[in-house]
Amino acid sequence: MAKRSRRELRDEEKVKLSAQESRAQLQFLLQFFRPYKFQLAIALVLLLITSGIGILFPKLTGILLDVMLGNKQTFSFKGNTVEITRFGIGATIFGLLLIQSVIRYFSSMVMVRITENSIASLRTRVYSHILRLSMSFFGERRVGELSSRISSDLTQIQETFNITVIELIRQIIFLVAGVIFLMLISVKLTVIILCTLPVLIVAGILFGKKVRQFSTKTQDALAESATIVEETLQGITSVKSYANEKYEISRYSNALTSTVALAIRGARVRSAFVSFIMFALFGGIAGVILYAGTLVQRGEMTIGELTSFMMYAMFVGGSLGSFAELFGQVQKTLGSAVRVQEILKEKPEIEIADIPLKNLRSVVLKDVAFSYPSRRDMAVLKGISLKISPGERVAFVGESGAGKSTVAAMIQRFYEPDSGEILYDGISSKELSIQEVRQNIGTVPQDIVLFGGTIGDNIRYGKLDASDEEVWRAAKIANAANFIKEFPEGLKTLVGDRGVKLSGGQRQRVAIARAILKNPPILILDEATSSLDAESEHLIQEALERLMEGRTTIIIAHRLSTVRRCDTIFVFSSGKIIESGSPNELLSKPESHYARLAAYQFLQPKLENISEN
Ligand code: ATP
Repeated sequence: MAKRSRRELRDEEKVKLSAQESRAQLQFLLQFFRPYKFQLAIALVLLLITSGIGILFPKLTGILLDVMLGNKQTFSFKGNTVEITRFGIGATIFGLLLIQSVIRYFSSMVMVRITENSIASLRTRVYSHILRLSMSFFGERRVGELSSRISSDLTQIQETFNITVIELIRQIIFLVAGVIFLMLISVKLTVIILCTLPVLIVAGILFGKKVRQFSTKTQDALAESATIVEETLQGITSVKSYANEKYEISRYSNALTSTVALAIRGARVRSAFVSFIMFALFGGIAGVILYAGTLVQRGEMTIGELTSFMMYAMFVGGSLGSFAELFGQVQKTLGSAVRVQEILKEKPEIEIADIPLKNLRSVVLKDVAFSYPSRRDMAVLKGISLKISPGERVAFVGESGAGKSTVAAMIQRFYEPDSGEILYDGISSKELSIQEVRQNIGTVPQDIVLFGGTIGDNIRYGKLDASDEEVWRAAKIANAANFIKEFPEGLKTLVGDRGVKLSGGQRQRVAIARAILKNPPILILDEATSSLDAESEHLIQEALERLMEGRTTIIIAHRLSTVRRCDTIFVFSSGKIIESGSPNELLSKPESHYARLAAYQFLQPKLENISEN
């Protein structure tokens, strides 16, 4: 993920929500738990039981201690006074512990099942929504940011429901019940303890703020150094070829130095805070013991009661201490929910009911103007009109940035024109569904990125239900069968990070095979700019010729050899078509832009071929 996006994400995390917004976010999240209402109720009951048992322990421990010290302890049962024995209380404690452990196991299993399923459905909903969004959306977002939504934001939500919510309920029970038990044992001592709380809370807030500031700064610094690692490893070839290892190492260690300094400053504040809390906490306990000692001496309190009291005081202190962290987590989760919802609110690509129309073969652009949503101020297409007849082979040529790829993208309906219209077989694009248009178009892009998986899977991407025979046939037509056969695992050879790395020419032939399998009536070929060796060039040309046979083809061309075999050439310049005609027509006019281009620029690498021909 890029440096800026990390920062932005963290800035977004700081967004403060009003109570109303928080409720709305909570409601949004809870809708995914609605199918599990019944299980949720069970989990809640189980949680209440385990917490209830938990809160009884200090009381029981106190009684046990008193019984051991010989203080007679009794309870009433059906009107009779029964004396509590050492064995009786011991057995009760162990029995309750056992029940608690068993129930806790089941309650956490129920809860995990609910959250895992709910979050999986939320993840699927977000992912399927993202995939349905338009290219304009993807143009404005970075991939890192989107995958962070699916991974970190949803993981944050998942952990909160799995751990934080349960812990929050448990701690609230401990706090309320703990204070009640404290009061029941000694109102005086409880008041003393509660008086020290405001001091601890204020100190906690002040220190907490400082600690958070430092941890944000440290994270930023750490993100900087992580970016250095990321960039360096991505560009490792450049690092090696310029022998800049030393420079990169010093860049990294400098970044780490500032991280370390910040981490130490943060730790200083944190340690001071911990020391202060320890002092205040144990000082308070010592004070209470001193005072309670006199109560015990005066016979107003037993040792057992004092022990129970101290344990409840720790329960209460513990829950109060955990609230800051737990609420912080909840706040973070609501922030994640906001970001996830932002995506879900984005409108998916316009879908119009399918018109049963197969085989679109011609494309007409009428005065199409367009600027990218991310750069509205820059007109990229300034009134493009062109006609591509069924089965015609056309080439888009022109300087870099003239708008050729943009027109190809518009024909695939990645973007909608700002004005003007696109017609397929005379039907306005607005009356066709996006899916239908794309089903009729096959592409062989310039940079072919294969998916992690087998070569077979990659070819089959053109027709998911294709049989192995069909895949082989397509590979053969694409001149890919021979190199695939050379791999011992054939079509099952893994490609990508974990598999073999295919050469540019091989990847292109896989993409051609994929297009052959898709068998679309319209083709868009973005010719690779980098030159291949003569052998691969020949194999690819031959494969492309077979692919183009009988199809309407648009070639974003960089080579004269391709252009010369086209029926019509459209010459682009600054978002306009400045010339069009057959290659011979354009070449016969020496003053034509195309003739000049052919002579100087875009065919430069192939000039040797021209002279050969
Ligand atoms: P090349 O031959 O170098 O591929 P091209 O003729 O295909 O160039 P386009 O890729 O269509 O040119 O780009 C036309 C203009 O639109 C350029 O100025 C480019 O910077 C801009 N552009 C392209 N894609 C985007 C995008 N996703 N967002 C914003 N601007 C873009």
